[in-house]
Amino acid sequence: MLNWNDYHIEDTAAAATTGQTSAEPTTVPEPASVAAPQALEPAVVSPEPVAVAAAVVPPADAPPPDRIAQAAQAVANIDVAPGLEELEMGAARVTVDEKAMINCRVDLNQLVPFKYDWAWQKYIDGCANHWMPQEVNMTADVATWRSADGLTEDERRIIMRSLGYFSTADSLVANNLVLGIYRLITNPECRQYILRQAFEEAIHTHAYQYCIESLGMDEGEVFNMYREVPTVAKKAAWSISHTRNLSDPTFSTGTLESDQTLLRNLIGFYAVTEGIFFYCGFTQILSMGRRNKMTGVAEQFQYILRDESMHLNFGIDVINQIKLENPHLWTEEFQTEAIQMILEGTQLEVDYARDTMPRGVLGMNAAMMEEYLQFIANRRLSQLGLPEQFPGVQNPFPWMSEIMDLRKEKNFFETRVIEYQTGGALTWD
Ligand code: FE
Repeated sequence: MLNWNDYHIEDTAAAATTGQTSAEPTTVPEPASVAAPQALEPAVVSPEPVAVAAAVVPPADAPPPDRIAQAAQAVANIDVAPGLEELEMGAARVTVDEKAMINCRVDLNQLVPFKYDWAWQKYIDGCANHWMPQEVNMTADVATWRSADGLTEDERRIIMRSLGYFSTADSLVANNLVLGIYRLITNPECRQYILRQAFEEAIHTHAYQYCIESLGMDEGEVFNMYREVPTVAKKAAWSISHTRNLSDPTFSTGTLESDQTLLRNLIGFYAVTEGIFFYCGFTQILSMGRRNKMTGVAEQFQYILRDESMHLNFGIDVINQIKLENPHLWTEEFQTEAIQMILEGTQLEVDYARDTMPRGVLGMNAAMMEEYLQFIANRRLSQLGLPEQFPGVQNPFPWMSEIMDLRKEKNFFETRVIEYQTGGALTWD
């Protein structure tokens, strides 16, 4: 296979040392014809790979290029000022007071001094909880899934719908993080956590793929549910509607309107997508695990839920910090809009619950799930400093909180003993 980088460097070096830029147009391609790596599809270059390689070999009598001298000259020519954006050499060092969540103009490459210790602590905690999907034994699940009487039709529907929604939802979250909010959150300790979170979203998508592959599901059917099953598609469409502005590379913050757009996105993704849309499916799958069914899938979901509850808490802290630093954004009108967003998210999740549980299953039903989702919505509202909208609702599934708070070493389903912790703090004594 032709290596683009090798080819490009050889071509340039040969031209520089031999002056053969256009002497042999039939064997040395014009730059325009190989301007992008995509142009190097096998169909285009494979007929004459040897001819291309031969054309860039300098004549035997040409002096060898002094690449070391060229590198030394390039290093000598580096001007540090443009590389460090708006910073000046010798400028005052960054202080804690200059750091801010959004629209900060100080050097973002300096992690310390910390201003938001909670963000750094979440990064440390996230690393300590590291896990990988292949660590979970799926053997019993495969046998149950293949057996004709291992699961009821209602239980199968729950597993299919859960994997259908989540297999694409975590990609939506990851894309929003990396392509949307990362560059707009102007604080290095928060960015450090966002990078950790983005990797966790990749692990979650990996986990769903691992379940789908282990169980031998129809991958096309599962990965397309977010476009084909209405209750799944509506949730995905709602999330995507809140990422559209931010994923425009020309979008920037700095005005009342654009700062509120960012805030709206953070509420839409952290408080609703990760804070409400995940809860019906998680509760259903974990309830299955508590009944000793599909314990491998349930164990994967247990670890994902624990990660997600930290994503949610980080997002709530970010939103509240932005409110604190920019109180003019949190207008009466904006608060009404935020409440509306939480209520829409709750309604979408209630619809999903009804669709996935047309009758009672696994000791729960759609009405119980509705009350649970209202309880969750109240939590999200009060975490954001907004009034609860469902007075008097109780949590019908208190065991969910117990699972969320477990450390990795304590596996709720006791399918295996995990005795190690990764990424823990080093001690020197
Ligand atoms: Fe997440």
